[in-house]
Amino acid sequence: MVRTKKVKASGKFGAGYGTNVRAKFVAVESKQRKKQKCPFCSNLTAKRKYAGIWQCKKCGKTFAGGAYYLE
Ligand SMILES: [Zn+2]
Repeated sequence: MVRTKKVKASGKFGAGYGTNVRAKFVAVESKQRKKQKCPFCSNLTAKRKYAGIWQCKKCGKTFAGGAYYLE
């Protein structure tokens, strides 16, 4: 994983894309990587499977949600 202190995960893009775009990307991606709250059992066990598809480890439910993170 290419990662730098300043641009975090967006360092994988190398040079280019501009700081504003990178900052937005880092905000979305860092949130998406974290476990999200499952709407069925309220545990922080939901993981993003694909864009918009989430699966909960605890109750095993697969459900549709936000493309990048759950509210
Ligand atoms: Zn659950």
